[in-house]
Amino acid sequence: MAPTPLERRRGFGSLQLRHVDAGSCNGCEMEIANALGPVYDASRYGISLVASPRHADGLLVTGVVTANMAGPLRRTLEAVPQPALVIACGDCALTGGAVAGGFGVVGPVSAVVTPTAEIPGCPPRPDDIVAALRRFSGR
Ligand code: SF4
Repeated sequence: MAPTPLERRRGFGSLQLRHVDAGSCNGCEMEIANALGPVYDASRYGISLVASPRHADGLLVTGVVTANMAGPLRRTLEAVPQPALVIACGDCALTGGAVAGGFGVVGPVSAVVTPTAEIPGCPPRPDDIVAALRRFSGR
């Protein structure tokens, strides 16, 4: 049986993610910034955001996916070396949240690409973000 994405990553010790805001209110971005900032300091567990999807292990996706962002989200994932992780962050990314069914909304992340993991919350707490990402960095 093929290993799960989590099993594949075990022992890597680091996690590089390309962040994609697919249509968020920026609340999730504020908490991601807190998770990576000096207080929660996710970098001590080998976790960082990178500018290029070609340098990433996967995507960290926030927000409901808008019609304008569905194509860019797909293309960004295609640029990540395979097998790529897709981590949906926040209730909008998981279910559509408060704007599900709204004008210009395609749907949650799962309507466009297949998530590997989900981080619930509106917005998720920084320590929950760090804990979820540590499962993949293995530290
Ligand atoms: S989950 Fe909450 S904080 Fe995150 S983008 Fe949606 S409304 Fe904003």
